Amino acid sequence: MVKTLYFSLETRGNNHVIDITGEVERKVSQSGITNGIVNVFSPGSTSGITTIEYESGAVSDLQAAIERLVPSNIEYRHNLRWGDGNGHSHVRAALLGASFTVPLVNGRLALGTWQQIVFVDFDNRPRHRNVVVQVVGE
Ligand code: ZN
Repeated sequence: MVKTLYFSLETRGNNHVIDITGEVERKVSQSGITNGIVNVFSPGSTSGITTIEYESGAVSDLQAAIERLVPSNIEYRHNLRWGDGNGHSHVRAALLGASFTVPLVNGRLALGTWQQIVFVDFDNRPRHRNVVVQVVGE
């Protein structure tokens, strides 16, 4: 069986990291599926999904690492072409990836105790975002 569910988020942009574990768990519970895999997907070219221990230190470390890897204060060809100033956002999103998949075992996501699912908005402005949760299993 395949069930596709959605939820939305308001973000601040600029590397805003949001813990979406609870929302994903609610959607999986609504799906009625208890064993299989869960794919969490962000349909957007300036956002990504990953996991981290969601505490302020680790979140700050991730944000700082992203800034070091893909600085916001250098030139991007995308900005010359489109003028929207978010060339760094697109590159960051491409590196992080738009989805995350986790096994679903007996009704529970097989996450580690300190492992949360996070949505990261790399755009250079606040955004309204939709997230897709697709559950495949029985
Ligand atoms: Zn752009």
